[in-house]
Amino acid sequence: MQKNLVILGATGSIGQQTLDVVTGPLAADYRVYGLSAHNRGDRLAELIRKYRPRRAVVTNTGQYQEVLAATAGWEGELLSGPGGLLELVTDPAVEVVVSAVVGAAGIQPTLAALQAGKTVALANKESLVAAGELIMTTLKAKSPARLIPVDSEHSAIFQCLQAIAEPDLKQVHLTASGGPFACWTAEEMKSVTPAAALAHPTWRMGGKITVDSATLMNKGLEVIEAHWLFGLPYDRIKVVIHPQSVIHSLIELVDGSLLAQLGPADMRLPIQYALTYPGRKANPFSRLDLYQLSDLQFYPPNFKRFPCLELAYAAGKAGGALPTVLNAANEEAVNAFLAGRIGFLTIPRLIEHAMSAYEKGSNQRLDLDTILAVDDWARRLTRQLIAGQSSLG
Ligand code: NAD
Ligand code: MG
Repeated sequence: MQKNLVILGATGSIGQQTLDVVTGPLAADYRVYGLSAHNRGDRLAELIRKYRPRRAVVTNTGQYQEVLAATAGWEGELLSGPGGLLELVTDPAVEVVVSAVVGAAGIQPTLAALQAGKTVALANKESLVAAGELIMTTLKAKSPARLIPVDSEHSAIFQCLQAIAEPDLKQVHLTASGGPFACWTAEEMKSVTPAAALAHPTWRMGGKITVDSATLMNKGLEVIEAHWLFGLPYDRIKVVIHPQSVIHSLIELVDGSLLAQLGPADMRLPIQYALTYPGRKANPFSRLDLYQLSDLQFYPPNFKRFPCLELAYAAGKAGGALPTVLNAANEEAVNAFLAGRIGFLTIPRLIEHAMSAYEKGSNQRLDLDTILAVDDWARRLTRQLIAGQSSLG
């Protein structure tokens, strides 16, 4: 029996690769029931004509008419706006949701899917960073909901953890390629252009995560993601720079054994595992040739040159809504950097400003409304800071 699958962010890098997996090696197991996209209505319309899902959502309402016109004759239903995502993921016919939109826009649909008891394959790490506690509590309360990581590092750790008893785990090691500026001095990084930041050495991904990889914020977000997914304190989540991106992460056991997952830098593998878990399935994707592997390197991250990683650890450890602030400020800063409005090194400065301006509410309960309000506050503050950049020093 085929399972009904929804892909949120179907036009993106993860969305497209998910379509490759579910119409390739997993074609017999999944039916493309729903697709969503935000911009690029033309691309969404193309996907609708090709895969003929039962329902689709264009979250940017301005593109609704265009998509509708370009899909005339399609027998499915087109929804629009962020509310359309909630309607799609809670559709009783839906079994599995791949959450692959970018940014905090993923919070509400991810949460709604879990609340409705669905299996969520999670690529959208920002939802766990901004709303980790709420998502994990919902997951526990709403059986049979499941949350399976797609992010390659978390998939690696998840795979290594199978059949490991909790007390046997000492800590986890998240690998990071180091990004294109791993060896640059702080002085050289002052003049980084968007084009240079978008040229990732080992992975091909969407723009936001590629810039996050260059600042190491991506690893910082992943540290917080690992905290929630695996229930580990921050001092048991380590980061190691591994420029070859062959080892996707490791776990360290109490007896000193290290278990790792290796593979080519190809997201289709963790996507497929999230969709076959706990089973496996053969596929025609490229494989690692062990004879070609040499010189795997590992070294500690430089927190001084990459302050975003330090900020993420600090936000994670402080807890509360500070990771929500970090995430929102980062999204605004990255957008401004890509638009050529701020320099590369201003990204961590903006995040730091937003974090220090945030005053923790006393015993604030982090329900959805509070999280969205904090997210909105941090965005507005960051935009103001960008508008008056000279005050950033
Ligand atoms: P992308 O930019 O290629 O695609 C993003 C998708 O989200 C697009 O379909 C877009 O239409 C949609 N979208 C954008 N803004 C939206 C909004 N406001 N509301 C609803 N939908 C919106 O991004 P990507 O690289 O595929 O990354 C998606 C998510 O997966 C991110 O959270 C990223 O961190 C994570 N991730 C990506 C990779 C990768 O290899 N690309 C690896 C690990 C994790
Ligand atoms: Mg990753």
